Amino acid sequence: MDITTLQTLLIDGDGVLWHGSQPVPGLARFFDVLHKRNINWGLLTNNATHTTQSYMEKLGGFGVTAGPDQIFSSGTVTAHYLRKNNHAIQSIYVIGQSALKETLTEAGFTVYDGEEEPQHVDAVVVSIDRAITYGKLRVAMRMIGAGATYIATNPDTTFPTPEGLSPGSGSIIAAVTAAAGRDPIFMGKPEPTMYQVAMQHFGSDPDNTAMLGDRLNTDILGAKRLGMGAILVLTGISSREDLAASDAQPDYIFDDIAALADELESAA
Ligand SMILES: [Mg+2]
Repeated sequence: MDITTLQTLLIDGDGVLWHGSQPVPGLARFFDVLHKRNINWGLLTNNATHTTQSYMEKLGGFGVTAGPDQIFSSGTVTAHYLRKNNHAIQSIYVIGQSALKETLTEAGFTVYDGEEEPQHVDAVVVSIDRAITYGKLRVAMRMIGAGATYIATNPDTTFPTPEGLSPGSGSIIAAVTAAAGRDPIFMGKPEPTMYQVAMQHFGSDPDNTAMLGDRLNTDILGAKRLGMGAILVLTGISSREDLAASDAQPDYIFDDIAALADELESAA
């Protein structure tokens, strides 16, 4: 992968563009450089707990204008995947936060949640749910057992918070999977669906597309499996020391997006 011919950049959020509510230094200039270089970009986040609108507002608050078609979360990609690949799916039982249910409802699906068992659903979608209960696990298990398509948003078992690690989607998915005795189809990184949906949107190929991320085992691994470029920044989870033990090796490593912006500018 050659950074000078880059046409489409897929960008992870947390640890790359921001830490929680704080933008990383040089964020506005980074997007200016992408604009000047005519590089298409999309946000690719495994986090399904925010709507497209709230990601647009978050970026807007940092001075970056993004359209709804530039936001790819594991929630929006789930909606896209179920609509595109399986027209028979109309009803979904969801274990997840309100943003995920909203996203699927807006996409035209009939969404069920809670502890009451629906008569029938076509699919079960499982993600992080801060109000997870035994009753919800039981409904998901039974619906999957009855033949529903089983989708999981993202495999991240934990996520960092200022107070320390917290259980993520992957922990809840593991409980459902164990009970149901069937593996889900994962939408998020490092699985291919999210990258493929984004590339299809931009009409780009792995040759001229790169993923920019902070996690070797998700962002970078998934990109390399698909044969696209991979750029690691060191402002998040993975460090230079982690590279030696990693199967997935990025094509480029930068300290932060400000350093990547310098490189893209001088390559122009
Ligand atoms: Mg990240």
